[in-house]
Amino acid sequence: MPKTGKCAICGQRKQLSYDHIPPKCCGNNGESYYISFTPEYLGNGLRMTKRKHSQNGIKFQTICSECNNGLGGKYDEDLGAFRQFVIDAINGRKPEKGFDLNNVIKAVVGHLLAASEFDSSLPARAMRDYYFDKNEKLLDKYSLLVCFYPYQNSIFILKNYVPMVFGINDPMPEGMLSSFYFFPFAFILCDKQKLPFGNDLFETLRIPSQLKFMLNDWGRKFPTWPAIVDNNHAFIASAAGKDSVFKN
Ligand SMILES: [Zn+2]
Repeated sequence: MPKTGKCAICGQRKQLSYDHIPPKCCGNNGESYYISFTPEYLGNGLRMTKRKHSQNGIKFQTICSECNNGLGGKYDEDLGAFRQFVIDAINGRKPEKGFDLNNVIKAVVGHLLAASEFDSSLPARAMRDYYFDKNEKLLDKYSLLVCFYPYQNSIFILKNYVPMVFGINDPMPEGMLSSFYFFPFAFILCDKQKLPFGNDLFETLRIPSQLKFMLNDWGRKFPTWPAIVDNNHAFIASAAGKDSVFKN
């Protein structure tokens, strides 16, 4: 359906096209259903609303075709190569193809922006400035954590949420802003972490030798938050978290 609006990446008013999570380069496959965590859902406990049908993962009609082509044409190839690299590492195979970490980060930032309507908050502005090479404040103020996400058939997209843990020792990063989880990745944009927490791709970009260390560790450590919601884990999403979705 044609829709005009403010592009979530460049901010111009244009006809909007669809962005998919996972993107096509990351094994986006076939038909799926997903659930949006709407304010009604949040107010009514377990009553889930808005079950949506989608081809090819979770889709958001939020970005103009120029930004869509830029994301798909310039950066997704490296994100796809990163994914293959990680899958090879998990399976003990020697990775065949390298990737440009800067492009991987641009792809992640672009898709995180595309996962909601145009957002004028400070983090979203820093993300856009970084994406368009205006400045690198994003790297100074925030962390982009990446961890292993082992669940092949579920996708989480979460925005503005507070994860909670009961009864077990499971540290969590602070100030989570935006994240998506699809095999084999959990990408989490959050406030700058004081303690080393998982692998911060923004720091890895500055110290590329960390990347090897990070990939060696891949698959051994992975978060149980907030992808698992069980007796020990839960999360609270604010009304601002209305773009959060879950698929399994
Ligand atoms: Zn645009």
